[in-house]
This record gives sequence, C-alpha cells and structure tokens, in this order.
Amino acid sequence: MASPMASQAGTALRDLALVRASLLARRSPAVQLAPRRWLNLQEYQSKKLMADHGVTVQRFFVADTANDALEAAKRLNATEIVLKAQILAGGRGKGVFSSGLKGGVHLTKDPKVVGELAEQMIGYNLTTKQTPKGGVKVQKVMVAEALDISRETYFAILMDRACNGPVLVGSPQGGVDIEEVAAKSPELIFKEEIDIFEGVKDLQAQRLAENLGFKGPLQQQAADQIKKLYNLFLKIDATQVEVNPFGETPEGQVVCFDAKINFDDNAEFRQKEIFAMDDKSENEPIENEAAHYDLKYIGLDGNIACFVNGAGLAMATCDIISLNGGKPANFLDLGGGVKEAQVYQAFKLLTADPKVEAILVNIFGGIVNCAIIANGITKACRELELKVPLVVRLEGTNVHEAKRILTESGLPITAASDLEDAAKKAVASVTKK
Ligand code: GDP
Ligand code: MN
Repeated sequence: MASPMASQAGTALRDLALVRASLLARRSPAVQLAPRRWLNLQEYQSKKLMADHGVTVQRFFVADTANDALEAAKRLNATEIVLKAQILAGGRGKGVFSSGLKGGVHLTKDPKVVGELAEQMIGYNLTTKQTPKGGVKVQKVMVAEALDISRETYFAILMDRACNGPVLVGSPQGGVDIEEVAAKSPELIFKEEIDIFEGVKDLQAQRLAENLGFKGPLQQQAADQIKKLYNLFLKIDATQVEVNPFGETPEGQVVCFDAKINFDDNAEFRQKEIFAMDDKSENEPIENEAAHYDLKYIGLDGNIACFVNGAGLAMATCDIISLNGGKPANFLDLGGGVKEAQVYQAFKLLTADPKVEAILVNIFGGIVNCAIIANGITKACRELELKVPLVVRLEGTNVHEAKRILTESGLPITAASDLEDAAKKAVASVTKK
C-alpha cells in the first residue's frame, strides 16, 4: 500500500488540475488559465501510442523545420498531405498564426506547399479558442498522409466520478465543438458505462458503434477500434482518451484523425516511458522550476502571491482575496510532506514574479508541521531580503511553536488570526501604496 503521505500528495496534484479547470470555467477576469494537466503529450506522441496498440491512424512524420517538413511530405509519397501544427490546445483547425497564416491544419497535394506552409507555422504562435490570448509557439508540425473523410464522429473514454469508473462517450456529430452538441442536442451524446473488472463488452462496443452511425462492416471496425482504444486507455493509465474526429473514409476505413490523451499522474511510477515523453515546452518555465522542488505553481494575473497547502485551500484563498477586492498573482501549493528547504524555494519562486506586491501565507497544518513552515519563512525572509509585505496565517499542528518562531524572529511579518483576517490584511497592504 502507498504511504498516506504519498497518496495525499498524489491527491493534491490531481486536485490542482481540477482547480485549474474550475478557475478557468468561472471565467473570472482575475483568473485566466490554460487547463493543463501535469503530463502532456502532443498529438504525434499520442498517435504513436495508438498505432502501437493497433489503433488506426494515418502514416505520419514529425518535423521541426520547414525543410524537414518538405522532405517528410516527399517521403510520404501520398496523393494528399495534411500538415498539422503541434500544440497541446485543441481547435487548431480554426486557429490563426502570428505569421498571419490562418488554420493550424492544412490539406494539400503539393509537397512544396507543405514546406511553404510549415515556414509560416514553425516558430510562430498559434492562437485557438483553447490557448491563452497570445497563442502558443509552434515548435513541431505533423506531416501526415491525408485521407478523405466521409463522416466525422466523436469518441472519448473518460474516468467518470459519477459512475465510479470509465465511460465511453460518443456522438455521431463529431469534428465540431462537442460541448456545443452536448448543450444543443444532448440526445446526440451516447454513453456506455464500463465495469472496470469486466472491460468493454462486445454488446457495448457494437451498440456505441451503431449509435455513432457506423453501418455494415464499418460497424464491426468501429467497435474493434473502440475496444482497442479502451485497452490502450487501461494500459497507459489514462484518465481521458479523446478522438475527434473519429471518422470514416469513403474507402470504408475507420480512422482516428485526432488524438488527445490525459494521464493519471499518480501512475508515473509505472509509466516511466510515457512520462519520459512529457512535453514541458509549453509550460511556464516557473512551473517546471516548481515541479523540480515538488511544488505546484499556478500563475495568475493579480498582485498577491499565495502560499498555501492543498488545492481546496488554494480555491478558498483565491475566493476570499477576490471577495475583499484583491487579486491573486499566483498560487504555490506545498502539498503534504513539506521540508524547510522547499519553503525557501517556494518563496524564491513566488517573489520572482515582478507583479507580486504582497505575499499571503495560508497554511493549515494537518500533515504539515507549522513550525517547519515558520522556520522556512524566517530563513527565506532573511536570505531573500524580502521587500514586499508578508501576511501569515498558520493553523493546526504545532501552531504555537510556529507563532513563537515568527514573533521572536523580529521580522516585519503581519500575523493574521484567520483566513478572512489574512485576506483583508493582504489586500490592505497592496492598496495602501
Ligand atoms: P483540431 O482542430 O485541433 O481539433 O485538429 P483536428 O486534427 O481535429 O483537425 C481539424 C479538422 O481538420 C478535422 O475536424 C478534419 O475535418 C480536418 N482534417 C484533419 N485531418 C484530415 C485528413 O486527413 N483529411 C481530411 N479530409 N480532413 C482532415
Ligand atoms: Mn480535433
């Protein structure tokens, strides 16, 4: 059995992904985040995994220069080629590049055009509905054999809390925004709940294939692909496999034209090869730096840095700062088994952000020992010569010792009695100026 400490840290990590998603969903102007899990794979990496598990994808190469893209297009020797910018966000087809080029997905019959288009993709930012405003820099493109699509459906496998296990989700109306289909025509969304011990039953795969509109021999093929995707999902410890479009060709082939896979980060220890592929190039450097110290960092756009433990407390801290008229600049989540050196690194990261005008420490000591936090704070204050106001609210395990350490340090630390008080004091400290 995993130690309670390790599983606590794992839960915090997973929750943080939910925090991101939840903050994003609120669309508060104070918090603009990209929904991102910790392990991310690009489409070409996901498709490689799929191909290795017998799932049908197009032949492809990956290129990081326009010339390589041209060469790849020639080597494919296909009637038609599809060129796709590789970024983690979806909606690429309708995206726009900072070079002026429209569309992150292009079809052409001429390899020379592939080179010309790649020239306008690689090194430029691609903005889609799912990226931050400035877009995301494209470093690689996928050059694939294009196939005609006669019908686009949607297929995904998700871990679903509501039914305590995996669910297959599909719609005969794929290719487009699936959220829109779900909102406007919920009757076109089909689900199959999977018993994790029994796996996908033939009947379920067949029924979903039929509901997706696959006819005749295509139905068996689609059911087969669905089962293979489910096997992949289990084998790689995914939390989501999304294929949109899950399409059919006029020649009678069922093909996964796009791929997005999310992973269970708690499974890192048994998925070493996959985690080694992690594409961190789109992370903020500071997030990677934080991850290096086992800290979770989320950048926001206000001016109050938040130093918390646990995703729930992060949310609460964000809310209470906003309620008191302030804006969080970032969050740093310490997680469970904290060491003094981590507290120091955490402060270093928090204050590296020039937007930060105050720091709010909000720690609830359950597993965390408050005295360790207090020692870390005083050390960081001295060594980093902290120049911004620091408001500290500590509660829980060993809090009296912690308060003594802070008071006796002689440092200009504002103590707060509870979360409300802490938020008020932090907001006041930035509005005074
Ligand atoms: P997304 O916009 O980021 O979701 O990227 P997709 O890979 O889903 O591509 C966007 C759209 O391009 C798809 O919905 C298809 O309509 C089209 N597309 C992608 N690959 C091919 C292909 O090989 N052939 C054809 N005909 N269309 C394609
Ligand atoms: Mn897609």
